[in-house]
Amino acid sequence: MKLYFKNRIALFNTLAAAITMLVVFAAVYAVVYITTYHYLDNNIREEKEELFSQITTTRDSLILGLNAEWEELEHNRAEVDPIFLQIVDNRGVVIFHSRNLENDQLQFADSLTNEQFFNVALNGKIIRQGQFPIKTRTGQIIGQLDIGVSQVDSMLILSNLRNTFFATFPLMLIFFYIVTSLVASRSIAPVKQLISYAEKMNYNNINPKLPLPVHQDEIYQLTATINALLERIEMGRNREKQITSDISHELWTPLTSIKGTLEVLIRKPRDPQKYQEKIVQVIQEVDDMNHTVNQLLYLARLDAGNINIIKKQVNLYDIMVVIRNRWNLQLQNKQMILQLEIPEDTMIQTDFGLLEIILGNLVGNAVKYGYNQGLLVCRWHAETGTLSISDNGPGIPQEHLPHIFERFYRVNVPESSSVQGTGLGLYMVKNLAEIQGINITVESKVNEGTQFDLHFIDNES
Ligand code: ADP
Repeated sequence: MKLYFKNRIALFNTLAAAITMLVVFAAVYAVVYITTYHYLDNNIREEKEELFSQITTTRDSLILGLNAEWEELEHNRAEVDPIFLQIVDNRGVVIFHSRNLENDQLQFADSLTNEQFFNVALNGKIIRQGQFPIKTRTGQIIGQLDIGVSQVDSMLILSNLRNTFFATFPLMLIFFYIVTSLVASRSIAPVKQLISYAEKMNYNNINPKLPLPVHQDEIYQLTATINALLERIEMGRNREKQITSDISHELWTPLTSIKGTLEVLIRKPRDPQKYQEKIVQVIQEVDDMNHTVNQLLYLARLDAGNINIIKKQVNLYDIMVVIRNRWNLQLQNKQMILQLEIPEDTMIQTDFGLLEIILGNLVGNAVKYGYNQGLLVCRWHAETGTLSISDNGPGIPQEHLPHIFERFYRVNVPESSSVQGTGLGLYMVKNLAEIQGINITVESKVNEGTQFDLHFIDNES
């Protein structure tokens, strides 16, 4: 069953109110009930005192001195508020009863030693009865005095109380439900407003932001939180647009260059050396594209948690030679030197393919962002199992350092913004390093250079 929020609130509140009312009623009823019987019992006790003052006992018999005045009084009371009297001797023989009992008899318990109160039926009516042992001066019980009073008034009070409650209870609940439902409806009006605003939004239109309610309550907080979320979505959307354009550019640049090179080549016959030179250039461009597409593929696999790690002993020097060869052309173009300070027999426990991607990115960045004639050093510290890759390039400003490993993060400074990139390289480096137990740290100083340290945990000596 579909139950609206305001109706749910109203229902729960009404349920809570119903329980509270029942508890309060039960307490009130109990107090009235106890008070009523207390009052009746006290009345009976007062009668008993009066009667006992008129009963004289000898050693083993009792003498009734009930005077005519009293009899008269009882007779008068009989119509309105009857009091029934009965005296029973130890043998259970009724030796006196009030006239209003006529042929009836009050119930009594034999040989009672203490006073006792109980409810009994007399002629189909419930009466309250008290029974008191009659004792001689020496304490010997010689009979029982039974006094019964009508409960009609008390019962009337109690039944009126019950009837009033049960008659008004459903009405009170209906009234309470309606009032709570109205109050709840008013309270959630700002939420409904939020829903209607949010319904008008879509991915391309998340403005204007949701209006903040006047009162600084939980709904205000919720609205502010949603607005902050919308702001982040908007930033993400803008970044996504930027990324799409960056990646397109990243693929488009080498494609245009390849097309241009091939078109120039085809125009007229050239000597083999020229062909070879241009083909090497084209291969380089294809490698660049391959690199970008690979990054995207690895990104998808990282997101899907679908990267297999096969660790084995590999020669670090050999990997670095492969990387140096890959970046050789750019190194030559920028007249940069890549110095390998790694013993040729350095073996490390790692996944060859993943390490190649990591090192390719780090060396590639040092080449891309490095100055012409810059120096790039790859050094192995055997004692700590650390490989450091340092350059004397432009460096990374301190405020950007904590973010450079974030997905799609690019440093927005003139030196690097002219260099093509996607902001994916270091994100991949960090993630691929982490999943195979390589700790990566970076230190950088503007205009002095950058150093990345790869700490191979499996190779600590
Ligand atoms: P991309 O190079 O595609 O922009 P990366 O994730 O590889 O993305 O690098 C993030 C940013 O870190 C780069 O935009 C660049 O500004 C900066 N950076 C990375 N390596 C270096 C480096 N060796 N020297 C200077 N800046 C660097």
